Amino acid sequence: MNGESEHAEIGIIGGSGFYRMKGIEDSHYIELDTPFGKPTERILLGKIWGKPFAFISRHGIGHRYNPSEVNYRANLFALKMLGVSKLLSVAAVGSLKEEMKPMDLVIWDQYFDNTFKRAKTFFEDGVVAHVSMAEPTCECLSRLAYEKAKAMGLGVHKGGTLFIMEGPQFSSKGESFTYRKLGFDVIGMTQVPECKLARELEMCYLPLSFVTDYDCWHEEEEPVTVDMVIEYLNKNVENAGKLVQDIIGDIDKEDPTCNCSSALQYSIITNPDSISNATYKKLEPIIGKYIKPK
Ligand SMILES: [Zn+2]
Repeated sequence: MNGESEHAEIGIIGGSGFYRMKGIEDSHYIELDTPFGKPTERILLGKIWGKPFAFISRHGIGHRYNPSEVNYRANLFALKMLGVSKLLSVAAVGSLKEEMKPMDLVIWDQYFDNTFKRAKTFFEDGVVAHVSMAEPTCECLSRLAYEKAKAMGLGVHKGGTLFIMEGPQFSSKGESFTYRKLGFDVIGMTQVPECKLARELEMCYLPLSFVTDYDCWHEEEEPVTVDMVIEYLNKNVENAGKLVQDIIGDIDKEDPTCNCSSALQYSIITNPDSISNATYKKLEPIIGKYIKPK
């Protein structure tokens, strides 16, 4: 890593269908390695409105990793190494509510995590931290995204609960009806553990979840198929690309009132003297702000 061209405060994670940022000048790809392994794809660095950003394709270009296989820790740690503090996470979701229609945007503010086959924390191997997930997303970025999406004419919903399933299979009707009864709004497979890891990295996390389908509960709609998902996906990707640019245009206009950037302040419970040098070295980009080397 060297120089200004490899630093970006804004991070973007592209979901299904969203593998590249189009129309970006002066962009280039870099390879990064992290203590948690290799990210799922090379990272694209470029500028939007003169502001540097780093973009990564969550599933890899060509969609090579299923939701359980994505190395979320490597993806987010790599972005942290580049200086990312604001993370825009684009994902495809299914809707569990009539009013959240295909091609609508849902900026959810709660989740229910039902995944079981993925690493969800950076804090292990002799260092423990308990960050708060009471409010898992960034309210400041969510407000901005809502305004920008409205101005674009998108159907947009602010708030709601995302149910996160392991996948890769879609839901059964039995599951889908149950999730609806429990009051969940949308269903996805990837934005947890992403938002948990972003919190541990003290990043502002903005979920931009675009609806592709009604899962399989809707009586008048056909059950979800990959073809259907892809069709809405392509339209959503176009909208997502434009929305991301609009958000970035105004991303630093207001002073943030969120607490995202100090999430770890009182969260590391391990006595600093008990942290081994190897673990400290591995986590220094995260904990170096609070704990000095021995
Ligand atoms: Zn924030």
